[in-house]
Amino acid sequence: MFIGAHMSIAGGVDKAVERGSSINCTTIQIFTKSNTQWRTTPLKKKEVENFKKNVEITKISPVFGHNCYLINLASPDPEIYRKSIDTLLIELERSEILGLPYLVMHPGSHMGAGEKAGIERIAESLNKIFEKIKGYNVRVLLETTAGQGRSVGYRFEQLAEIMALVEFKEKLGVCLDTCHIFAAGYDIRSKYGYEKTTAEFNSIVGIDKIKAIHLNDSKKELGSKVDRHEHIGKGFIGLETFRYIMNDERFRLVPKVLETPKGEDMKEDVMNLKVLRGLIKRS
Ligand code: ZN
Ligand code: MN
Ligand code: MN
Repeated sequence: MFIGAHMSIAGGVDKAVERGSSINCTTIQIFTKSNTQWRTTPLKKKEVENFKKNVEITKISPVFGHNCYLINLASPDPEIYRKSIDTLLIELERSEILGLPYLVMHPGSHMGAGEKAGIERIAESLNKIFEKIKGYNVRVLLETTAGQGRSVGYRFEQLAEIMALVEFKEKLGVCLDTCHIFAAGYDIRSKYGYEKTTAEFNSIVGIDKIKAIHLNDSKKELGSKVDRHEHIGKGFIGLETFRYIMNDERFRLVPKVLETPKGEDMKEDVMNLKVLRGLIKRS
């Protein structure tokens, strides 16, 4: 079972692996650079070496990336758009250097241009980017969104539309976020609702496209379209849904990470991981 949490890269990407290992994560997610500013300095050789050494020692697998929050491939603003493309390319290069199999990305926000225009712009941007990194192994995982503001990706159909327009199918996958789909209106609280939602995802996108899962409960109600993560079992989704996921054979090999609120000592992660592990049925 690959289960862990998002880990801070304060002090270097290599430190994230140490942090994850210290609380017994078997997989972790990291930002490839600062997530709140555009600029970045190149990865240092020593940092990359230490990162790879730590991954080897701890056996954490996979370590995968999440892109910076500023990137918006659907932006109608030419300056933001240009920076978004450039920065995503840099992040993919960093992911490749570190050997990360996936970089999770929020599809984008159309900022008033309309959902159709947004979806087309995202696909066009991805085609442009993939054209430049044909030799890379890293895949981009489109994350399901809560539908906050003008963001797209809150309906499975929207993810399918983006994927249909991207030529490089093998470079794309999906990251399913439990809080986001719930806030977007998918009721996964009951076993029936969970099965119905996953069946819907399967027929629209394909369940095998799910390469990572974000395990977050929700501070806001079903369909709120507000993205606020809560500790497992303490929010509006509730514990049972996480029991379904933790025991869903279709997701057995899919890495699952927490993105729940926490302090520097990570005791909240320890608590949530304990709760999640406790849900796994022994066979
Ligand atoms: Zn995300
Ligand atoms: Mn997420
Ligand atoms: Mn979120």
